[in-house]
Amino acid sequence: MPLLKYICEDCKTVFEELTTADKKPPCPKCASANTLRHYQGKCYFGGKGGGSSCGGNCGGCKGCGS
Ligand SMILES: [Zn+2]
Repeated sequence: MPLLKYICEDCKTVFEELTTADKKPPCPKCASANTLRHYQGKCYFGGKGGGSSCGGNCGGCKGCGS
């Protein structure tokens, strides 16, 4: 299983989880199920560039929020 990065939409905690690609682990901090895959340095959830790389600095997408 790959070590994937996730971000919690509720508390913005970024965490890593050994899991399959389709699974969404709950947030380890607030136990929210509202988590998203997080790719370091890339826009994955829309914003400028529509899901492509933004260099982690677009300020307009949740994937770059941290
Ligand atoms: Zn959380």
